[in-house]
Amino acid sequence: MNIHEYQAKELLKSYGVRIQEGIVADSPEGALEAAKKLNAATGTSWYVIKAQIHAGGRGKGLVNETGSRGVVLAKSLEDVPVKAAGILGGTLVTIQTGAEGKKVNKVLVAEDVYYPGASEPKEYYLSILLDRGKGSNVIMASTEGGMDIEEVAEKHPEKIIKEWIDPKVGLQGFQARKVAFKLGLEGNAFKEMVKFITALYNAYVGSDAAQFEINPVLKTSDDKILAVDAKVGLDDNALYRQKALAELRDIAEEDPLEVEAGKSGLNYVKLDGNVGCMVNGAGLAMATMDMIKLSGGEPANFLDVGGGANAVTVEAGFRIILQDPNVKAILINVFGGIVRCDRIANGVVEAYKTIGNIPVPIIVRLQGTNAEEGARIIDESGLKVSSAITLKDAAEKVKAAIS
Ligand code: GDP
Ligand code: MN
Repeated sequence: MNIHEYQAKELLKSYGVRIQEGIVADSPEGALEAAKKLNAATGTSWYVIKAQIHAGGRGKGLVNETGSRGVVLAKSLEDVPVKAAGILGGTLVTIQTGAEGKKVNKVLVAEDVYYPGASEPKEYYLSILLDRGKGSNVIMASTEGGMDIEEVAEKHPEKIIKEWIDPKVGLQGFQARKVAFKLGLEGNAFKEMVKFITALYNAYVGSDAAQFEINPVLKTSDDKILAVDAKVGLDDNALYRQKALAELRDIAEEDPLEVEAGKSGLNYVKLDGNVGCMVNGAGLAMATMDMIKLSGGEPANFLDVGGGANAVTVEAGFRIILQDPNVKAILINVFGGIVRCDRIANGVVEAYKTIGNIPVPIIVRLQGTNAEEGARIIDESGLKVSSAITLKDAAEKVKAAIS
């Protein structure tokens, strides 16, 4: 689960990570109030207005309706509501949102931290994630902050510092110092960076995160180290024990069909193809998607109905798949291991009758316990449903249905 930048920064701050201070707002007037409070608390007289969406690249992204960027500077209090109005309610398109963009419902009004001083402000990159291959957490850092890190990784892999941390041992002091040293820091900035990395790692572990990305981490002109941006991805499997964090979920940022599927206990991912599929088990679902491709189609979705497929889950699955206008045929591929095929077949027929007129052909492939009886139920239902027992047979029927 992802959370917004303003929420991520609050999380980091609660673990003692220094952040660029800010206050969230959902109207231009609210943004002005936020700026006044910030001015009182930090003394800042310049402000940064930042669109809150679950996607990066906001600084370079454009708001369709106004032409504003997704991150803008306001150099006076009066300018804050004007700049906020250019972002709020608009559709922000960045390299990460896709062409349709994302609606902006909130902005973060933050203090300007790039103020002039003894040295130039400098941007760094820092992330912590799980390295599954090594069974460790890994800290990745770079002096090339503020840039597209994938590009740095590709063109200058030597500029990415990696430090693996054994989760059983935790981050050791020397490791935090090593990263700060390799970033070329010295003096107070070095000490600040060590503190920053240590607190950040504690936040990562304490929140059961799967990914932290702080880009940029800023060294201010007076040698403070702080988080200007924060992307936090939490481990969904740990949310049961992270109740406060689970509350931060923003459904407006998720695909509506995926949210609806989740409510019915279905594992659904929307794709761009023309053949809807409904399968029990993730592995079989992947194989089914491959098979759809081999038959000349493109999967319209991934949908795992889980082990206990019945008329209710099948009906929920149909309803979700049918909301996608690109779907030209539906393939149901179920292995009757725990559930018997005749029960599934009856479930399909029942769900079909409840929904009424389904405008696309349905191919049902049942294999396993009572497969033949299942096929008979499908074929004798009198509905626009055909049965298949082998994968090849199913593939040919899908091909015929879409061509
Ligand atoms: P992203 O584009 O979605 O990754 O958003 P970021 O939070 O990383 O902000 C984008 C850029 O805005 C940063 O790389 C900075 O260059 C700029 N920025 C952020 N905060 C400040 C600030 O306080 N002052 C100034 N002048 N620029 C800022
Ligand atoms: Mn960023």
